[in-house]
Amino acid sequence: MAENPSPECPDCGNSFPLRTTNGLCQKCCKLKDHKHGTADYEDIEEQPQCVMCGLTRRNNMHKIGQSYTCGSETCVHELKEDGVGPQGELYSHCSFSALMLNFGIR
Ligand SMILES: [Zn+2]
Ligand SMILES: [Zn+2]
Repeated sequence: MAENPSPECPDCGNSFPLRTTNGLCQKCCKLKDHKHGTADYEDIEEQPQCVMCGLTRRNNMHKIGQSYTCGSETCVHELKEDGVGPQGELYSHCSFSALMLNFGIR
Protein backbone atom coordinates (compact mmCIF):
# COMPACT_ATOMS: atom_id res chain seq x y z
CA MET A 1 0.00 0.00 0.00
CA ALA A 2 1.38 3.35 -1.00
CA GLU A 3 1.35 6.00 1.64
CA ASN A 4 -0.03 9.21 0.36
CA PRO A 5 1.53 12.13 2.21
CA SER A 6 -0.82 14.63 0.63
CA PRO A 7 -3.24 16.51 2.87
CA GLU A 8 -5.64 16.43 -0.02
CA CYS A 9 -8.59 14.11 0.19
CA PRO A 10 -8.75 12.06 -2.99
CA ASP A 11 -12.51 11.95 -2.83
CA CYS A 12 -13.77 15.48 -2.18
CA GLY A 13 -10.54 17.09 -3.32
CA ASN A 14 -10.32 19.39 -0.33
CA SER A 15 -7.04 19.84 1.47
CA PHE A 16 -6.74 19.76 5.20
CA PRO A 17 -3.26 21.01 6.11
CA LEU A 18 -3.38 19.76 9.68
CA ARG A 19 -4.92 16.39 9.28
CA THR A 20 -2.92 13.48 10.54
CA THR A 21 -4.25 10.71 8.35
CA ASN A 22 -3.84 9.99 4.69
CA GLY A 23 -6.47 9.01 2.22
CA LEU A 24 -10.04 10.03 2.70
CA CYS A 25 -10.94 12.88 5.01
CA GLN A 26 -13.19 12.13 7.92
CA LYS A 27 -16.27 13.32 6.13
CA CYS A 28 -15.64 11.12 3.12
CA CYS A 29 -14.91 8.20 5.44
CA LYS A 30 -18.28 8.66 7.05
CA LEU A 31 -20.03 9.15 3.74
CA LYS A 32 -18.51 5.96 2.43
CA ASP A 33 -20.73 3.97 4.79
CA HIS A 34 -23.92 5.41 3.38
CA LYS A 35 -25.63 5.38 0.07
CA HIS A 36 -25.65 8.60 -1.86
CA GLY A 37 -29.04 10.26 -1.64
CA THR A 38 -30.13 8.67 1.62
CA ALA A 39 -31.09 10.78 4.62
CA ASP A 40 -28.03 9.57 6.52
CA TYR A 41 -25.78 10.58 3.69
CA GLU A 42 -27.26 14.03 3.45
CA ASP A 43 -27.10 14.43 7.18
CA ILE A 44 -23.38 13.79 7.16
CA GLU A 45 -22.86 15.90 4.11
CA GLU A 46 -24.38 18.85 5.90
CA GLN A 47 -22.19 18.52 8.94
CA PRO A 48 -19.63 21.27 9.23
CA GLN A 49 -16.07 20.18 8.63
CA CYS A 50 -12.90 21.60 10.12
CA VAL A 51 -11.02 23.23 7.27
CA MET A 52 -7.70 22.50 8.93
CA CYS A 53 -7.85 18.86 10.00
CA GLY A 54 -10.96 17.58 8.24
CA LEU A 55 -12.80 16.56 11.37
CA THR A 56 -16.53 16.59 10.93
CA ARG A 57 -19.34 16.46 13.44
CA ARG A 58 -22.77 17.90 13.85
CA ASN A 59 -22.31 20.01 16.95
CA ASN A 60 -19.66 21.95 18.76
CA MET A 61 -17.94 23.28 15.70
CA HIS A 62 -16.45 26.72 15.89
CA LYS A 63 -17.01 29.13 13.10
CA ILE A 64 -14.29 31.60 12.28
CA GLY A 65 -15.29 33.88 9.48
CA GLN A 66 -16.84 31.58 6.93
CA SER A 67 -14.82 28.60 8.03
CA TYR A 68 -15.51 25.91 10.53
CA THR A 69 -12.90 24.45 12.77
CA CYS A 70 -13.13 21.61 15.23
CA GLY A 71 -12.06 24.06 17.92
CA SER A 72 -8.79 22.37 18.76
CA GLU A 73 -6.11 24.82 19.77
CA THR A 74 -3.94 24.02 16.79
CA CYS A 75 -6.65 24.36 14.21
CA VAL A 76 -8.01 27.59 15.64
CA HIS A 77 -4.54 29.01 15.96
CA GLU A 78 -3.53 28.14 12.42
CA LEU A 79 -6.74 29.47 11.00
CA LYS A 80 -6.36 32.79 12.78
CA GLU A 81 -2.64 33.01 12.08
CA ASP A 82 -3.33 32.67 8.44
CA GLY A 83 -5.12 35.94 8.42
CA VAL A 84 -8.75 35.09 8.26
CA GLY A 85 -10.29 38.30 9.39
CA PRO A 86 -13.87 38.86 10.44
CA GLN A 87 -14.82 38.82 6.80
CA GLY A 88 -13.33 35.36 6.55
CA GLU A 89 -13.60 34.97 2.85
CA LEU A 90 -10.19 33.47 2.36
CA TYR A 91 -11.34 30.00 3.07
CA SER A 92 -14.00 29.32 0.58
CA HIS A 93 -13.32 26.05 -1.20
CA CYS A 94 -11.71 27.67 -4.19
CA SER A 95 -9.10 29.39 -2.02
CA PHE A 96 -7.38 26.27 -0.87
CA SER A 97 -4.51 26.64 -3.29
CA ALA A 98 -3.62 29.92 -1.62
CA LEU A 99 -3.80 28.18 1.70
CA MET A 100 -1.46 25.45 0.55
CA LEU A 101 1.07 28.00 -0.60
CA ASN A 102 1.06 29.53 2.83
CA PHE A 103 1.87 26.19 4.30
CA GLY A 104 4.65 25.59 1.83
CA ILE A 105 3.05 22.39 0.60
CA ARG A 106 2.96 21.67 -3.05
ZN1 LIG B 1 -12.97 14.18 1.60
ZN1 LIG C 1 -9.51 20.72 13.29
